[in-house]
Amino acid sequence: MRIALLSRNPDLYSTRRLKEAALERGHEVRIIDVLRCYMDINIQNPSIHVKGVELPPFDVVIPRIGASVTTYGTAVLRQFEMMGVYPLNESVAITRSRDKLRSLQLLSRKGIGLPVTGYANKPSDIPDLIDMVGGPPLVVKLLEGTQGIGVVLAETRKAAESVIEAFMGLKADIMVQEYIGESGGADIRCFVIGDKVVAAMQRQAAPGEFRSNLHRGGTASLVRLSPAERATALRAAKTMGLNVAGVDILRSNHGPLVMEVNSSPGLEGIEAATGKDVAGAIIGFMEKNARQSRTQTRGRG
Ligand code: ADP
Ligand code: MG
Repeated sequence: MRIALLSRNPDLYSTRRLKEAALERGHEVRIIDVLRCYMDINIQNPSIHVKGVELPPFDVVIPRIGASVTTYGTAVLRQFEMMGVYPLNESVAITRSRDKLRSLQLLSRKGIGLPVTGYANKPSDIPDLIDMVGGPPLVVKLLEGTQGIGVVLAETRKAAESVIEAFMGLKADIMVQEYIGESGGADIRCFVIGDKVVAAMQRQAAPGEFRSNLHRGGTASLVRLSPAERATALRAAKTMGLNVAGVDILRSNHGPLVMEVNSSPGLEGIEAATGKDVAGAIIGFMEKNARQSRTQTRGRG
């Protein structure tokens, strides 16, 4: 296969591993920085150019689009889709997953377990919103945050009110969520490829911290999933329309709750914690599915 690997940095662990796994399996790989791409949005002959040269044809495209370049990155990916290139994850699914509220609405529609979550726009609605999600302690989140930045634990009503007011004052979009204290600062990352959870790890927050993100000092270890957790992760990825996803689950007293679904899950933490060749599994998935050209939307929508 001729693989386009959309990544802004060839030195990132995930990028290096995907390239390595692809080369090992006899494929051609070109790493492309989406911000270097410019496009001719022409339905007869859509094309992508980099530094004055049109990109050659590719069979498949692996998007690794950072949160800060979602809009432009998914536009470039959509162009690949219009050109008939098979995407590992489709642009529509990536766009969905980048908005936490939209994702949770989609998941809740399918009856997938979620922490109780509320959303409001007006400061005058804050007291009612806090009651709706069951009162403090609660978690306030920026809708487009990532790596734990923009996730705040408010332990008292006063703290919750002032944090929510501050975010609203900055015109930041937020949601307010029930705090799942019984998970003890741990969550589970399920790495989904197609219809399998190929690897899973537990992440434990650093002492004194409730966010388990590895970027926030969390530590990862191997974990055994229950059948309910496995099924929840697969349904969540499928609902989002993602072939490859990192589904984050909290273990609550009333079963697994999905916190978020990541469309470009990192490989470093999961490969280190589980010893599995996740990059190889991703390339294997592409080999099986690309030929059948299972693109659902071809950049529509
Ligand atoms: P990000 O996209 O920034 O990673 P998350 O929604 O995944 O945001 O939250 C970051 C971390 O905060 C999670 O990995 C988890 O450890 C903790 N966390 C988030 N929401 C809750 C919650 N409702 N209850 C308990 N812990 C939470
Ligand atoms: Mg997270």
